[in-house]
Amino acid sequence: MFNKASELLEICNDKNLSISEVVIEKEIKSNGFNMEELMDRMYETLQVMKDSATAALDKEVKSLSGLTGGNSKKVEDYKNSGKTLSGAFINSAMAKAFSTSEVNASMGKIVAAPTAGASGILPSAILSAQEKLNLTDEDLIKGLFTAVGIGEIIAKNATISGAEGGCQAECGSAAAMAAGAIVEMAGGTPQAALDAAGFALTNILGLVCDPIAGLVEYPCALRNASGVVNAFISADMALAGVQSIVPFDEVVESMYKVGKAMPESLRETALGGLAATPTGIACSKRLLK
Ligand code: SF4
Repeated sequence: MFNKASELLEICNDKNLSISEVVIEKEIKSNGFNMEELMDRMYETLQVMKDSATAALDKEVKSLSGLTGGNSKKVEDYKNSGKTLSGAFINSAMAKAFSTSEVNASMGKIVAAPTAGASGILPSAILSAQEKLNLTDEDLIKGLFTAVGIGEIIAKNATISGAEGGCQAECGSAAAMAAGAIVEMAGGTPQAALDAAGFALTNILGLVCDPIAGLVEYPCALRNASGVVNAFISADMALAGVQSIVPFDEVVESMYKVGKAMPESLRETALGGLAATPTGIACSKRLLK
């Protein structure tokens, strides 16, 4: 039905449909679900997202390694202090993204959308948008289908794997999916949703994958927190009318080429970037001895 964003946009414009409506139609046709089954599955997904994004807000959820844990609660408490620089909304979104990352690092249940490493961005984005815009769960489900469509385009035409394309492919893709979802939930057009997705990827084009000790914890959790902020500012730019000069398909292609050009040391091998700093190496020796 569509492989590229340009094809998706054409269908949306021709049939006067939102991205989520086109994706739902496609899922029913290609996966053989009826509408009820499809919605039931997405509501289950949403519930797991809600649980993971809130689990660590009021208690420390530490990983076995001790590399991560407790930051969701710290940021939530900081937000509640009323003294933040970037405001309650941004800090609340970061706390939720940290929460899912911490649940993931402690081997809890998360939705790997698009991957476990980047699993904090999308749940935080839709739940924060729900609070801000007074959205129903049904609206969030639509947002999730929009995210599915954008993630599928990236996976088909590039990669969502840090080992293949660096963190731009993981946290970048998650932020792109989230940005598109936010725009649709906020009432933006399909073009604006794709522009927002393109901005989110553009903003971190070239980001390397360098997990300390090879564990999906640090800097991963930080990049989930900043990833949801990236999604919101990208959505805001698109909703304000800022247009992407480079179409989304070309941004995706460029991300893939940049990923391919990255040395292996910067693609999840823990041989470069922060993993190769003296502190990163010391952590690795301590944890892996
Ligand atoms: S740094 Fe690597 S492992 Fe961590 S979230 Fe990014 S892509 Fe995933």
